[in-house]
Amino acid sequence: MENDKSNIQDTDPELYGYMQEELLRQQTSLEMIPSENFTSHEVMQALGSVLTNKYSEGYPGKRYYGGNQFIDKIESLAINRAKSLFNVEYANVQPYSGSPANMEVYLALCNSGDTIMGQSLTSGGHLTHGSQASATGKIFKSVQYGVSADGYIDIEEARRLAKENKPKLIWIGSTAYPRKLPFKEFAEIANEVDAYLAADISHISGLVLGGVHESPVPYVHIVTTTTHKTLRGPRGAMIMVTKKGIEKDQELPSKIDKSVFPGMQGGPHDHVTAAIATALLQASTPQFKEYASQVVKNARALAEKLMSNGIKLATNGTDNHLVLADLTPIAPGMGIFAQDALDIAGITMNKNTVPGERSSPFYPSGLRMGTPALTTRGMKEQEMAQISDMISDVLRIISRYRLPDDKAERIEYLRNFRIEIKDSEALKEIKKKVLQMCLKFPLYSSLQHS
Ligand SMILES: *Cc1c(COP(=O)(O)O)cnc(C)c1O
Repeated sequence: MENDKSNIQDTDPELYGYMQEELLRQQTSLEMIPSENFTSHEVMQALGSVLTNKYSEGYPGKRYYGGNQFIDKIESLAINRAKSLFNVEYANVQPYSGSPANMEVYLALCNSGDTIMGQSLTSGGHLTHGSQASATGKIFKSVQYGVSADGYIDIEEARRLAKENKPKLIWIGSTAYPRKLPFKEFAEIANEVDAYLAADISHISGLVLGGVHESPVPYVHIVTTTTHKTLRGPRGAMIMVTKKGIEKDQELPSKIDKSVFPGMQGGPHDHVTAAIATALLQASTPQFKEYASQVVKNARALAEKLMSNGIKLATNGTDNHLVLADLTPIAPGMGIFAQDALDIAGITMNKNTVPGERSSPFYPSGLRMGTPALTTRGMKEQEMAQISDMISDVLRIISRYRLPDDKAERIEYLRNFRIEIKDSEALKEIKKKVLQMCLKFPLYSSLQHS
C-alpha cells in the first residue's frame, strides 16, 4: 500500500502545478458563469474520500455486489434528504450529471421516433431538450418553442406547437433565461395534450430550495436537476417524481430506476452521492436561504446598474440569478469580443445568443452572466454595482471592433483583435481593480481538503 502521507505535490509535481494555477485563477478572477459555483469544504471532503473505491450497481438493499451496507445508508440518506427538501415522492441520486439524467428520463418514457418538445437552445433552452446538435434531437422528433421579441417564453407558441404535434414529453427549464419559469402555464399545456411534463431546474434548484423561485413540484410529473449549480454541491444530478407524477403513472419510479441502471449507467459514483447528501443538508439551513436570496438581490443590482450604464438587457432585467446582456445596439456579433476582453480583465462569463438574434449562434450578440459564485464569496449589491461599471468600461474599450460580414475574414480579424487587447493598458487597469476586489473576498486556503 502506498504511504498514506504521499502527496500529489511530491509525486506528480507537473499536475500539482496546474491544479495550483487553477486554484489561483479561481481566487483572483470574478467568476460570473451562471452555472458555476464554489462548493464547500465538506462536499470536497466527501468527493476526495474512500467512497470512490466502491462498486454498488443497483439500489439500496438491492445491490449486485457485497459490502454495500454503509453505501446503502449513504445513498438512502441522500434520497431521503432530496425527498423531504423538494417535497417529492421519489428521488434517484445516481445520474452522473445533468445530461445523462435527462437522457434517462427520455429512456424511461419514450421510444425512438416519439415526439418531444423543449425550449430551443438559441432561446435559452438546454441541448438535451431536443436540440439538433444533441442526440435528443436525432433520436426523437423534436419540436422547439422559443421566446417572444420581449425575451419571455412564448407560451402561446408552445401551446400551438403542442396541440399540432402532440408530444409525449414536454420540457420546461433553461440555461440562459433570466425570468421565472411558467410552470403553471406549462402544466395546462401538458394537460391539454396529455403529455408528461418534466421540469429541468438545473440552474435554479438552489433558488427553489432557498424559497426565491417557485417550486415546479405542484405542477409537473418529473423534476431533474444538476447538483453543482446554484445548489452548490458536487458535479452530479438527480431525477425526482412528484405526487402528480405518481398519479399520472404509478410506474414512473420503477421506470426511472431501470432507465438509470441498467438502462444508461453502471455503478453509481458513491463519493458523489455522499457529497450530494451533505450539500442537501447545507441547503436546508437558514444560511442557505439567505444565500439564495442574496444571489437574486445581487443579480438585480447587477442588472439595474448595467441598464443605468446604457446596456440593454433581454427582458429588461432579471428575476433569478442571471442576466442576459444584449449588445446588438453596439453591434450584432459583439458577444465574442466582449467575452475575450472581459477574460483578459479577469471577469469570466460567456457569449450567448439573444432573443431575435441577428448574428449567429457561434458569433452571438449577447453575454450571459450570473451571481451564484460571487455571492458564495460574500459579495453584495455594492460589489455588483462596481462590477457593472467594470463590465461597462470593458465594453467601451472594445466598442470600435466589428464582426466582419465576410465569414473568411472573421478568423483573421479575431486573431488581430486578440493580439491587440492582450496589451491593452486600459484592460490591465481593470484587471487590477478585479484583483483588489477578489483579495477582499478570500476563497479557499489551499487545494487540500481532508
Ligand atoms: C447544466 C444543465 C444541464 C446539463 O448538465 P451537465 O451536468 O452539464 O450534463 C441540463 N439541463 C440544464 C437546464 C442545465 O442548465
